[in-house]
Amino acid sequence: MKAAILYEVNAPLKVERVTLDEPQANEVLVKIVATGVCHSDLHFMKGEMPTPVPVVPGHEGAGIVEKVGPGVTTLQPGDHVVMMVSFSCGKCRYCVEGKPTQCVENLPIMSMATLPGGATRLHKGEQQLNHLFGLASYAEYAVVHERSCVKVREDAPLDVVCLLGCGTSTGIGAAINTAAIKPGESIAIFGCGGVGLSAVMGAKLAGAGKIIAVDTLSRKLSMAKKLGADYVINAKKEDPIMKVMELTGTGADYALECIGNVNVMTQAFASIRFGGKFIVVGMAPLGTMLSIAPFEFLLGKTVTGTVQGDIKAQLDIPRYIDLYMNGKLPIDKLITKTYSLDEINEAFEALAKGEIIRSVIKF
Ligand SMILES: [Zn+2]
Ligand SMILES: [Zn+2]
Repeated sequence: MKAAILYEVNAPLKVERVTLDEPQANEVLVKIVATGVCHSDLHFMKGEMPTPVPVVPGHEGAGIVEKVGPGVTTLQPGDHVVMMVSFSCGKCRYCVEGKPTQCVENLPIMSMATLPGGATRLHKGEQQLNHLFGLASYAEYAVVHERSCVKVREDAPLDVVCLLGCGTSTGIGAAINTAAIKPGESIAIFGCGGVGLSAVMGAKLAGAGKIIAVDTLSRKLSMAKKLGADYVINAKKEDPIMKVMELTGTGADYALECIGNVNVMTQAFASIRFGGKFIVVGMAPLGTMLSIAPFEFLLGKTVTGTVQGDIKAQLDIPRYIDLYMNGKLPIDKLITKTYSLDEINEAFEALAKGEIIRSVIKF
């Protein structure tokens, strides 16, 4: 089968023929139908986050189960699945506490780029290839742990709902679960890429009174308006902190940073009211630091983060898909372009330049 391989950081991906082993215990073989092109992969490809190479990236995959390994009880051949960027073992304290995206297995999977438990199933000749996020969906097929998959309704278009495997559910969940917006409350969303725009949609679903979207590209801001933002701020033309203060009177109840830029995080934190909550959603390069005056905490402000929008994937992904299918969560609007696997480097160039909101690789 074909897969896109990262041999060294800051080099283009190479689409080559590779070998994929049969699924072992608790693993399934998925024929990938579509996979989103997400900024998180780019962080690894640029070396801003460490990953052992060679590695097959890709973590917003959706497809159809083709074969199941021994002991698989939750899936069978023919099932349509969306793969989850955050794995949950179901046994650790976080999983048991109902915080599956914080599962202890996630960090080793992300840093070692293996399947849960440390195995790899991909080879190029004699050479072993790693699986970024334990998924490696930039390939025609993937062998993944059954718990990395959420079974979804068969009438849902996989080339749209694949986005729910990472970025889109992160944004929606950050608004609904992490901020837990109550009807009428205000939220400022910094960064209107796929994650930020999903947060706009999530905030609208939650009944936010004032949704304020901030970006430097007018194209992205007009999309934010279409998806439910009540106000948009072009941070190139206006001071976003002053403008949020003006629009809310006191500062926003919540602010989300959906880019991974510490300067923008500082602005977002300064935009919340006394007692407001600032949520780091974007993935900042490892080694960068955020500095905050401790006095701000005496104003009752909260800073927190989120892993994949604190979703409970097995419950929330089917719900988000129902909302999409009923026209209440138009995640398809995020998809600006589709590419083939052979065009994957082009897709990443367009993403890095901000030319597209989200693109999808279709097989
Ligand atoms: Zn766990
Ligand atoms: Zn992602």
